[in-house]
Amino acid sequence: DGTLPRPGRRRVMTVANQKGGVGKTTSTVNLAAALAVHGLKTLVVDLDPQGNASTALDVDHRSGTPSIYEVLIGEVTLAEAAQPTEQSPNLFCVPATIDLAGAEIELVSMASRESRLKEAISSEILDEIGVDYVFIDCPPSLGLLTVNAMVAAQEVLIPIQCEYYALEGLGQLLSNIELVQQHLNRELRVSTILLTMYDGRTKLADQVTNEVRNHFGDTVLKTVIPRSVKVSEAPGYGQTVLAYDPGSRGAMSYVDAAKEIAERGALMERSSST
Ligand code: ADP
Ligand code: MG
Repeated sequence: DGTLPRPGRRRVMTVANQKGGVGKTTSTVNLAAALAVHGLKTLVVDLDPQGNASTALDVDHRSGTPSIYEVLIGEVTLAEAAQPTEQSPNLFCVPATIDLAGAEIELVSMASRESRLKEAISSEILDEIGVDYVFIDCPPSLGLLTVNAMVAAQEVLIPIQCEYYALEGLGQLLSNIELVQQHLNRELRVSTILLTMYDGRTKLADQVTNEVRNHFGDTVLKTVIPRSVKVSEAPGYGQTVLAYDPGSRGAMSYVDAAKEIAERGALMERSSST
């Protein structure tokens, strides 16, 4: 398999939707793995106290392991907390432990509470390692952890499940993103919407797809992730679906989505430099 265009500047993408179960974690780990196996150095930052991304990538995330919690409170650097993964030599993960559950409250009284992740991510260490992509897997809320992710990123990727009430709550997410743009991170924009868990047998899935495309236009990736048992089984084996069953429709669709993301990034750079 070939390589993908390397971004001229590191892309930091926050995967957010305050709804649970829409495919944030699944999309984070599989898109990251797809970019990594195609030659791009990629870091997953698990920012959900549940630690699902850490589980899916099979990295140690027992309480006490240097994790994103220690990074946020300033005890270790991001590079010190990053672990290699079995998925690809190009794929690294900063895990989340259960200690992160208290961070939402602890952060409130800390200096520069909204930009602690940004400070950690823009460190020179990441430049040295040459990380091309950072994906931040957010918890299902719009609290201080998600705000930290939005301040640290240039782009937001919103997964939308092709189901009932798919668009419910999106208004709230978008207005939070706008607030962050206005007050904390000028550069932030919703660059990517990914339709997930598409079930071609239902009319509803097509209705949701059309509605989302009408509403968000080209921000929506052409690739749609199908509902697939392989995708849901993979984390139970500590694997991405790319490792678990590379030939499956789920794996191939995540590779296609990752290619779209990489190619759009290259296009954006070209158009902004002319
Ligand atoms: P979130 O991080 O937004 O809470 P997850 O990525 O954990 O959502 O997905 C929620 C559940 O749906 C998980 O059990 C996951 O395995 C399953 N899932 C996600 N994407 C798919 C898919 N394409 N096909 C089948 N199951 C999926
Ligand atoms: Mg999750």
